[in-house]
Amino acid sequence: MGTYSLRSPEFVEQIGQLDRRTKCGARTRQGTACRRAAVSEVGRCPLHGGGAALKRRYEAELRTSKPGKRQDWLLKRLAKTARNREREYQKTPPNPFDRAAQEFHTAVKEGRTTLDARARWINAVNVVRPYRLDHAMPMIHEAAMGKLGHPMMAATFIAGHLSLNESEIAEFQDKLGFPN
Ligand SMILES: [Zn+2]
Repeated sequence: MGTYSLRSPEFVEQIGQLDRRTKCGARTRQGTACRRAAVSEVGRCPLHGGGAALKRRYEAELRTSKPGKRQDWLLKRLAKTARNREREYQKTPPNPFDRAAQEFHTAVKEGRTTLDARARWINAVNVVRPYRLDHAMPMIHEAAMGKLGHPMMAATFIAGHLSLNESEIAEFQDKLGFPN
């Protein structure tokens, strides 16, 4: 329908501007030469470095194009490229998990907390919710750094997030070494 993939035969069919005589020739994972048609400016197919050249060409064509089917197609094609770039970008900034971990390791280096402090929290979570450990890690890092307040408060906070029932809370606190 309205989706165009650089890999799809329809796409290669539709652009019609690829030089079908000139093959890309880039080395594939199989060790053979790529046989896709090349984008003339760069001599490579859209998968092997010709994509950017193709994008520049479409942008140039769009600037001088008149309303119509071809312009619609160009807009759609370029919008998809922009979306893919956004997705790529979203992968780059550190996620909250990494951020808390980075902060924690700095705190360890500066002597504000210890790996043992974190290990106590990890062990306690492991007893009641082993499969939620990844989810709980940012909270564990914060608790180990004292960012969630008094350890009792931190425990209540984490227990709430893990939806522990009363007996699990008792187990959790016991594992943390809190008096009952
Ligand atoms: Zn290629």
